[in-house]
Amino acid sequence: MDNGTEIMAAPYETWLNEVRSALQSINMPLEDWQQAWSFDFLHEYQIGTSPSAAAERANRFWWHRQNKARNQDCSRSDNCWLPRGHQGECQPV
Ligand SMILES: [Zn+2]
Repeated sequence: MDNGTEIMAAPYETWLNEVRSALQSINMPLEDWQQAWSFDFLHEYQIGTSPSAAAERANRFWWHRQNKARNQDCSRSDNCWLPRGHQGECQPV
């Protein structure tokens, strides 16, 4: 019996479920946003990002893309995920 693949796959699913519920709690349903702009969750998992940090990164990534798509991205920095005219300092994606 070789369950190697299943054993390897299970932790990612568990991890992703935690990311999903973290995103749900801030009203950012993973599946909806992932359809619009694909965030590389597998990469975050592979480099050991915690579920809450991955959720935060995905949130920033999606806002950045949406702001750009609506031409409302920050005009001060190309790598800032906050909307144009935001208060305070720029925050990189
Ligand atoms: Zn900015």
